[in-house]
Amino acid sequence: MELWKKTLSSLRDRVEPYDYKHWIAPVSCERVDEGRKEIVLGVPDDSHGRWLAEHFVGAIKSALRDLTQSDFAVSFSAPEASDLVAAPPPAPLKLVSGVREPEAPVASVGVPGLIDRYRFDSFVDGPTNQFAMSAARGVGDHPGTLYNPLFIFGGVGLGKTHLLHAIGHEVHGKNPRARVRYVTSEQFVNDLIASIQKNEMNAFRARYRDTCDVLLIDDIQFIAGKDRTQEEFFHMFNTLHSLHKQIVLTCDQLPQSIPDMEDRLTSRLQWGLIADIKPPGFETRVAILRRRAEVDGVDLPDDVAMTVARHITRNVRELEGALMRVVAMAKLTGRPLDVEMTHQALGNIIGKTLERIAPDTIMKAVCAEYKVSPSELKGPRRHRNITVPRQIAMYLVRELTDESLPQIGAFFGGRDHSTVINSLKRVEALRDANPEIRAQIDRVRRSLRD
Ligand code: ADP
Ligand code: MG
Repeated sequence: MELWKKTLSSLRDRVEPYDYKHWIAPVSCERVDEGRKEIVLGVPDDSHGRWLAEHFVGAIKSALRDLTQSDFAVSFSAPEASDLVAAPPPAPLKLVSGVREPEAPVASVGVPGLIDRYRFDSFVDGPTNQFAMSAARGVGDHPGTLYNPLFIFGGVGLGKTHLLHAIGHEVHGKNPRARVRYVTSEQFVNDLIASIQKNEMNAFRARYRDTCDVLLIDDIQFIAGKDRTQEEFFHMFNTLHSLHKQIVLTCDQLPQSIPDMEDRLTSRLQWGLIADIKPPGFETRVAILRRRAEVDGVDLPDDVAMTVARHITRNVRELEGALMRVVAMAKLTGRPLDVEMTHQALGNIIGKTLERIAPDTIMKAVCAEYKVSPSELKGPRRHRNITVPRQIAMYLVRELTDESLPQIGAFFGGRDHSTVINSLKRVEALRDANPEIRAQIDRVRRSLRD
C-alpha cells in the first residue's frame, strides 16, 4: 500500500492535473504482491476501469517500474454491484486488465496490444484529420505498396494511436496470416535493453525484422537520444523497407523536428508519406461525442454535446473524458443529462477555458463580415442579403453561447424557436455545400477569438 502511495505521487507529475484529479486520485490499492509483481487497483466503476486501462495503464506501469525497477501486471477491480454501466453477469471480483497486455480479456484476439475499439469505423473524420485517415486506410488496404513508411504526426490526444491500431486491425482482418507487430517505442526500447542484457539479440531481430510483415511503432519520438536503439532501428528499417514490409510510425512532431535524432534516420522517416492531424473543429468534435455516446449506449442530448464540444477544444481524449464525467455524474445523482448538469460536472474547466461571449458581440462580428447592420438582422426583412447573415448569426450564437433556442429567437427580433431550428439546419446545409460560406463562418469565429 505504501507502494501505491509513492506511485500516486509520481503519477501526479506525469499526467495532466485534470486527469490526475478525475481519473487517478479516486483509485485505491486493493492488493499488491511485490513478489509476483502484481497490483490490483480498486476503481469506482467499470467504465472508470476501462478508461484507465485504455489511457493511463502505461503511465501507471512506468511509474511502478521507476519505483521498483520491475514490470508490474496491473489490473482494475470495480465493485460488484456497479450499476453505472450495463455490466456482464456479476462475478465476485471483476477484473478489467490493462488492455495493452496481450493476454488481457478486453484486447483483440487478433494482434497483441491493439485496442479493440480503435478501428476505422469508430474514427470520425473531419477536415483536420481526413488526410491522415485516408492515408491510414490506404495502407490498411495495401500494406507495403503505397507509402512506406507512413508517418503520422500531431499533438497529444488527437487520434494517432487510434489510426495506428486501426491499420493493424484492418490488415489482420483482411489477411489473418499477415504478421502484424505493434509496439510503443518505449516497449521497443525496453525490449532492446532486455535483449542486450540477456544476450538475446538474434531473437530480438527475428521478432521485429524477420517475422514481421507490418511494423507499427507508436510515439517514435521516444527513441531520440538513445543511440543504440536508433542504430538497431535503422538497420531494421532498411531490411523491412527493402523487403516491402509496411512500416507505420506515429510521432508528436515532424521527423526533422525531433531533437537528437540521427540524420540518416530522419531522412528515412521522410521517405514515404507524412500525414498530420490537427485538433478537430467544432462540428467534428460534436460528431466524435455523438459517436462515442452511441458506442457507449448513452442517449446524448444535442445541447449537451454542443456544450462539451464548445468548451473542450484542444484534445479528443479530454473531450471524451469530459463526456464520461458528465454522464457519470448524471447517473450518480439520478438527475437528467442536460446543460445544467454539464456545467456542474465540468465547472472548473468551463470557467477556465472560455470567457463568455455575449450574443451581441457575435451579432456585431457577423454584421462586420457581411456589411449589414444589427437592426437589419433583428428586423423583418427577408432578402437573401439579410437572411443568410441572420441565420449565420443564430447559428454562431447557438454554437458559442449557452442561450436556449427560444432565447436566441427572442434576441433576433422575437422570432420563435422553430424559426431558429430552421435557420440552424439551413446554415448546416449551406456550410456543407458552399466553401465560401464555410470560410466566412470561420472568419467570424476567428475574429471572436482574438
Ligand atoms: P494520440 O495517440 O494522438 O495521443 P489517441 O489515438 O490515443 O491520441 O486518441 C485519444 C482518444 O481520442 C482515443 O480514445 C481515441 O479513440 C479518441 N479519438 C481521437 N480522435 C478521434 C476521432 N477522430 N474519432 C473518434 N475518436 C477519436
Ligand atoms: Mg498515442
